[in-house]
Amino acid sequence: MTRRNEYKNDCKLSGKFSLRRSQKYYEVPAGELILRVQCYNEKHQSIYHDVHFFLPAPKPAQEQQQQADRLSVMILGIDSLAHMNFLRMMPQTAAYIKQLPHVEFWGYNRVGLNSFPNLTPLLLGQSDEEVERGCYANKTSFDHCPLLWQQFKAAGYNTSFAEDSYYIGTFNYLKSGFRQQPTDFYLRPVLHEMHYESGQSMGKFRCTGNRKFAQVLHEFAYKLTPHLLAAPHFSFFWETEGVHDYFNYPKLRDADYRRLLQHLNGTQVLQRTLLLLMADHGLRFGRYRNTYQGMQEENQPLLIALYPSWLDAAFPLAMSHLRSNAHSLVTTFDLHVTLKDILLLPLLGDRHVAARADALSKLDSQLPRGISLFLPIPQQRDCQTAGILSEYCSCHKLSSMASADPRAQRAAQYMVKSINKLISNEPLCQRLRLQRLEVAYLYDSANNQREFEVKVRLFTRPGGGQFEGTTRFLDNTLALNGDIQRTNKYGNQSYCIQNYHIEMYCYC
Ligand SMILES: [Zn+2]
Repeated sequence: MTRRNEYKNDCKLSGKFSLRRSQKYYEVPAGELILRVQCYNEKHQSIYHDVHFFLPAPKPAQEQQQQADRLSVMILGIDSLAHMNFLRMMPQTAAYIKQLPHVEFWGYNRVGLNSFPNLTPLLLGQSDEEVERGCYANKTSFDHCPLLWQQFKAAGYNTSFAEDSYYIGTFNYLKSGFRQQPTDFYLRPVLHEMHYESGQSMGKFRCTGNRKFAQVLHEFAYKLTPHLLAAPHFSFFWETEGVHDYFNYPKLRDADYRRLLQHLNGTQVLQRTLLLLMADHGLRFGRYRNTYQGMQEENQPLLIALYPSWLDAAFPLAMSHLRSNAHSLVTTFDLHVTLKDILLLPLLGDRHVAARADALSKLDSQLPRGISLFLPIPQQRDCQTAGILSEYCSCHKLSSMASADPRAQRAAQYMVKSINKLISNEPLCQRLRLQRLEVAYLYDSANNQREFEVKVRLFTRPGGGQFEGTTRFLDNTLALNGDIQRTNKYGNQSYCIQNYHIEMYCYC
């Protein structure tokens, strides 16, 4: 099977043969290969159906390419994993990381609602809106978007992109994905085969044969190892299935992540790689999410950087900045510029870094949105300068308000009105009414009677949608400050429209 496009593979060769006593195996040709295997017994009942894949061995010339001044980059992403939930649910992985050189970031804050607006800053250095107005304006493909892996490719790296979710892929969920295969190694064609042919749905995750799609994602990483060792490599792995939906699910993935890190360390991949173990945001739905703690954790995803110890000796100043940023407010915009610094590794030398740090300190309040973590994040950085919407900012102090407070009631009514405005062009979406105001919070500027912010969570009808948002009061006017989030699942309530911007608000 080979990739024709994002949504179709071509079958190059197919055949049937009998596994008689004399022929217990079938030899497959060498190279990159996707195989669908189905076995039948004498009664023509299917007894085995699965998809397997092979990667070619690195070309001998490539094996020389790994140079001392090149650093590979690996992003291991786990969707919807809050930092706190990582510590709760993945103790084996957390304990293993403690033995390796690493920086754990405690001030990493999401910038947008869901995966896409948090990942475009990482992969493109742009907000989702900037991407949609710019390189994705024609909505036909992301081929012309300057994705980070293209920049690494241009610098002589090999590249890989793999996600475990076929349906809600970062660039594919209600979006067009790529026309050309985006990276040298690409898992999607394998997942396509599994999704449509051998896959079984198990609630919010899928299996093929006896393994979950998330395990297939790791299988890809294991099979890629010779390439990771042979030449500089930029790889992006993203896991969504299960972790996206269940609070306890990361517990089931803990041993696999510990094993993968052990493997990467044991094979010396980590000796030549900066690895980011990270998430995009915390859990977005459900009972835990809708507690005060869950609401705060949603804004604070996991981010840990693992690095080879020789970096400390080679780039002492840059690495000391990386460590001192462990408690700074950081975002995926910062990660983008940080990874770009890897492309010009020699420029992380003390002299250059000192000059850049000096220039940064003189910018005062005109700070750039993304700052390399190899530089000291200035103290004056706040959510606004970092590109974090107030709604998602962890720096605020919230105090509870009574639901009966007229300001809370006004904010709730305003939010419902705003939702109705968002869906006003969709005649199939029903107009919503306020069913109940669940909670309300006043932001820290409580003493200012003229200008203040109120966060509310409420239920609407019909459809029982649960929504959360922040409204800003200025004199007698009201405005939204950030997105309106849906904090309970909407299943297929919005089946009548195909628009990822507003599907969470639409009850058909
Ligand atoms: Zn996400």
